Amino acid sequence: MKVTVIGSGYVGLVTGVCLSDIGHEVKIFDINQHKIKMLESGQVPFYEPGLEKILKRNVKKNNLFFTSQERFAFADTDIVFIAVGTPPGLDGEADLTYVFRAVQNASSYMKENSIIIVKSTVPAGTTEKLNSLCKKLVPNKNLTVASNPEFLREGSAVKDFYKPDRIVIGANNDVIHEKIKSLYALIETEYCLTTPESAEMIKYASNALLAVKISFINEVALLCEEVGADVEEVALGVGKDKRIGSSFLRAGIGYGGSCFPKDTEALIYLASQYNKEMKIVQAAKEVNDRQINWMLDHINQSATQIEHAKIAVLGLAFKPETDDIRESPALRVIDYLLQRKAEVQVFDPKAMPNTKNQYGTTLSYHETVEAAVENTDIVLVLTEWEVIIKHLPAAINSMISKPVIIDGRNCLERIKLNSDIRLVQVGKASEE
Ligand code: NAD
Repeated sequence: MKVTVIGSGYVGLVTGVCLSDIGHEVKIFDINQHKIKMLESGQVPFYEPGLEKILKRNVKKNNLFFTSQERFAFADTDIVFIAVGTPPGLDGEADLTYVFRAVQNASSYMKENSIIIVKSTVPAGTTEKLNSLCKKLVPNKNLTVASNPEFLREGSAVKDFYKPDRIVIGANNDVIHEKIKSLYALIETEYCLTTPESAEMIKYASNALLAVKISFINEVALLCEEVGADVEEVALGVGKDKRIGSSFLRAGIGYGGSCFPKDTEALIYLASQYNKEMKIVQAAKEVNDRQINWMLDHINQSATQIEHAKIAVLGLAFKPETDDIRESPALRVIDYLLQRKAEVQVFDPKAMPNTKNQYGTTLSYHETVEAAVENTDIVLVLTEWEVIIKHLPAAINSMISKPVIIDGRNCLERIKLNSDIRLVQVGKASEE
């Protein structure tokens, strides 16, 4: 099929590139010309393992194109995916400006009987509003808008495209369901064929439940510290129950990223529009907002004085295997440290350019774990990158004056550190 994807961000680019790889002719359209130029020269504008190779392969095969030209993008296409951002608005509601603008724009060029598929995360009811918009703007074209929410995870997005847990398609009739399903014919998975409203809710309910699991174990972790239990042991034991499962039971400094914080807020806002309360999701959000205090409290307990203390921040991305720092807990820690006039030495294998764009020279950037921890009083582990887990123990063991390590991701093994090193971890009895 001839497919156009609007938006070349984490979702749009992965979707477009992988759809071209399974045999479709794909055009990726973005209003950001800088991104389009980078893509045309074979460069992926962000870090996503495996993506660049597939992109180059399909550009070479002549079935993948990048463009900022609307006519070229939309005039000759069967299917248009919407993969633009839906950032949080002032009251936490999803800001749908980009989605509506994208549909308005595309619909004026699209040919009759084609389909618009919303991949962006949008509140229940949006797909139907977009259907009405198309009927109003181009009444004679018989365009259909359907929902196909995205569940990929940054860092394993390519793998998630080829092996998703499920593909959710929300449409008002089976012909559209089947047409969209046929786009993914080569992907073996379970299909959930639903109404647009159910598809939209599946996405929000999934993200909210994952956020709830994280906040739940984080709350349990804080109690573990009080009662002398070890949250790792507790999570392992709890997760063995098949009804519960072990994923998303890692205690730490809380979730971040461009999805969980904004999608939980948007769900709470959506409920409020119907005079309903999402009490559990609200609690998960509140627990997450305060979870960072665990880290800030331990920094205060570990330093005689924060002003001019040298503090290493290891890990800036909101999770490993991505360069995305949107809503990363690391940024809240850095803001606190800068406000308290600490000297902050940072390291991240992929997210330093994005961090530099935001913080400039207020931080000192280091290319290795060893350089970042040199002469520091405190070392903070904020993202569980493999390179940090591998290099940090030896780097600290070899230092003469040894900093305290506060491991906000519970990723270090005590046994790999010399016994005179103080290691603080979430949900574990403190070492004095
Ligand atoms: P992103 O910010 O990385 O990318 C959005 C892109 O859309 C940008 O390149 C921007 O220039 C482009 N854009 C905006 N308006 C446009 C327009 N009118 N025409 C053409 N291009 C336009 O966003 P993202 O992280 O890829 O997320 C996109 C959507 O997918 C969001 O709704 C998000 O909630 C959802 N989602 C994201 C993830 C994730 O892990 N990032 C996972 C699942 C779902």
